[in-house]
Amino acid sequence: MAQLLKLEVVTPEKNVISEDVEIVMAPGTLGEFGVLSGHTPFLTSIKPGKIYYQDANGKEKIVFVSGGFAEALPDRVTVLAESAERRRDIDVDRARAALDRAEKRLASDKAEDVNFDRAKAALHRAIERIKIFETKGL
Ligand code: ATP
Repeated sequence: MAQLLKLEVVTPEKNVISEDVEIVMAPGTLGEFGVLSGHTPFLTSIKPGKIYYQDANGKEKIVFVSGGFAEALPDRVTVLAESAERRRDIDVDRARAALDRAEKRLASDKAEDVNFDRAKAALHRAIERIKIFETKGL
């Protein structure tokens, strides 16, 4: 069996994941990265998207992260995220409503009333949540 490493995904509100895993893939701001046990240590920021991992039984799982930081050490990966949800905890109606709000803000002709960076960030979070919710087979 492959050597395991510990994956921790933590937000200011809760500890979302604390599991022994075989492999972790995460959306670094410089590109997606993968970590196996024994990896060289590094620290990176992460963007909104999915963390994919295989648990100790080889079962594939995905988690949404809204962005934050990840630290990889030879025996663990720690992700500090602003928000995060396991796929099964994603409320897709809420994400669709957030997408709708963000699209309306971005299409608004009252530019002075809209914080475009904030609306774009909300749009990205909603799109990533919906994509993860709709991922088949996991
Ligand atoms: P919304 O506008 O719906 O609040 P948001 O992208 O602004 O979406 P966040 O700031 O990323 O929300 O998260 C705030 C809290 O709500 C976090 O605890 C996050 O896990 C939770 N959350 C947000 N959207 C969803 C969702 N679609 N399903 C489940 N939990 C969600």
